[in-house]
Amino acid sequence: MPKSCCVPGCNSNKRKNQDLKFYIIPSERSRRDRWLNAISRAKLNPDGSINKGKRWSPKSGQCYVCSSHFITGVKVNDSTHPDYVPSIFPSTTTSRQDDGKEMSK
Ligand SMILES: [Zn+2]
Repeated sequence: MPKSCCVPGCNSNKRKNQDLKFYIIPSERSRRDRWLNAISRAKLNPDGSINKGKRWSPKSGQCYVCSSHFITGVKVNDSTHPDYVPSIFPSTTTSRQDDGKEMSK
């Protein structure tokens, strides 16, 4: 099974997007919290509003975020750098009202 991005609205996977990097969500508690908070901001409710109340959390430990969610395209291990956590998410910039399924090709 190829690595795939677990960010809501992002369908990248290692096989399809070979030039992207896939970063596993950090296991370190505080950093993991920041990643999960960032990703849950991208998760929309069925009515299209942003889900603020409930924090998203991955079902398994093997959960990846692709490099397209980082401003510079790479994860940075410096807590003062904006790319310490992923910050670019597709669903925060579009307000789609459909069910989010874009099955093209
Ligand atoms: Zn992604």
